[in-house]
Amino acid sequence: MAVVTSTVPLSGTVEQAEVARRADAFVEELSQWLRIPSISADPGYHGDVARSAAWLEATLRRDGWPTVEVWSDTEALPAVYAHWPAADPDAPTVLVYGHHDVQPADLSDGWSFEPFHPRVVGEELRGRGASDDKGHIAMVLLGVRAHLAATGAAAPAVSLKLLVEGEEESGSAHLAELLAAHADALACDEIVVTDTGMVDREVPTVCTGMRGMVDLEVVFHGASVDLHSGQFGGAVPNPVTELATLVAAFHDDAGRVAVPGFYDDVREPTAREREAWAALPFDEPAWLAGSAAGATATAGEAGWSTYERLWARPTAEVNGLHGGYAGPGHKTIVPHRASLKMTFRLVADQDPARIKALVERFVSERIPAGIDAEVSTGGPGVPPLICDLDSDLVASIREAMGIALGAEVLPAREGGSGPEALLSTELRAPLAFLGVMLPGDRIHAPDERAVLPLLLAGAEAVAHLWRLQGERAR
Ligand SMILES: [Zn+2]
Repeated sequence: MAVVTSTVPLSGTVEQAEVARRADAFVEELSQWLRIPSISADPGYHGDVARSAAWLEATLRRDGWPTVEVWSDTEALPAVYAHWPAADPDAPTVLVYGHHDVQPADLSDGWSFEPFHPRVVGEELRGRGASDDKGHIAMVLLGVRAHLAATGAAAPAVSLKLLVEGEEESGSAHLAELLAAHADALACDEIVVTDTGMVDREVPTVCTGMRGMVDLEVVFHGASVDLHSGQFGGAVPNPVTELATLVAAFHDDAGRVAVPGFYDDVREPTAREREAWAALPFDEPAWLAGSAAGATATAGEAGWSTYERLWARPTAEVNGLHGGYAGPGHKTIVPHRASLKMTFRLVADQDPARIKALVERFVSERIPAGIDAEVSTGGPGVPPLICDLDSDLVASIREAMGIALGAEVLPAREGGSGPEALLSTELRAPLAFLGVMLPGDRIHAPDERAVLPLLLAGAEAVAHLWRLQGERAR
């Protein structure tokens, strides 16, 4: 299987050559792993999550990692841990985090092939998990092999630890427990997260932040049953109208979230970041038609670009609003109930607990007479994470990716939310990202793919990174 007809410029480094030598075996190996449907969301597949962990364990052992363990001593689905100490006891310890579970996938979801029968099409490897995140974990393993081969050393230039979680795609519900139970094994100086990507194939970027999240659920109850809209309409409160009024109150005319205090702690992006983001090419019509699946206009908070809105501004988003009759014909009722689900994305320095309190107060002040309300903001929420752009780690990652991809690597962020802040806080170590997913990789969607030349360049970047971090520490 000769797949590496690359349009990524080749760096000509020893690391690049070592990655290239292993390319075909890498595709073969990753394809094996992708055949295991490690879907964490569905208990019917938990045996496969365990098989996937065992597959990774065996692969790490074959690679020579001195310590390899599968952790299943907590409520968490099996996680894989590995440790490869540097020869130099003073070298820093870098923990790489990723996950081996995948999103559910079924042919009937609209896949053009069986999602767990991976295939190479041109320069792409297609299959569930090809990119998110098995492809990226395999990329790190390949990077470690290339690093050792390039340096001719028996151990990496930094002490490496690997934590590959088994339930990230179901919300990392037991990650805190896992981190606490294995705090000693996981102790590290720096964390690198693989579960990330770049804004565009032609524009290498490094993710430097992710948003946090808080949930809100509201149910408005009126009468105990639906009422006749002729006999009662206009004389009793309508829960759907009242809930729609509440929803409308969440934004002002400039698209800002109208919850008092909501923006108090928001850390604005620096001028340097805004400049870098403005320099990223952004083809709005193409983005709308492609990534945004046929949306026809952008919208949001006035005064900010699309990237800024996605990466550096908090939001209040209605996920669902339900009430009354929407079937065929008409049904003349005053509905007795309406329900709402919202999520708030948070940015650097916003505290989920404080935002929850502000949102709860905002809602409780807007419950009209005659309406009984149930208001809930769910669990603790997800804190946002922001990297230190001036850290050695981010500098090394940009340099390593720059060598492998042959271009300057600009800072960018992601709009989503993940367990990064939890990792960084619990392990008390700074965190940065290294990944080469593309917006077109269709992660979580049918026909997921990875662009193989990019995965190989990512592996090369990983190989450079350990060398660079080892050199910086000396
Ligand atoms: Zn992922």
